[in-house]
Amino acid sequence: MSERAAPFHCPYCGEEDLRPGEQGHGSWECAACNRGFRLKFLGLLARGVRRADHEGDEQT
Ligand SMILES: [Zn+2]
Repeated sequence: MSERAAPFHCPYCGEEDLRPGEQGHGSWECAACNRGFRLKFLGLLARGVRRADHEGDEQT
């Protein structure tokens, strides 16, 4: 799995005009709203892949 994760849309304005930022690894710049942000992969979730459809089970 690659460390590189490329966002498809700016999380702030939703535009797709993104380019790699100058702040180092994982940083991106949005040309539309002039924001810089950083993506960081936090690791796989401890709960794993599970469907949530039994959340809130009711005991009768
Ligand atoms: Zn933006």
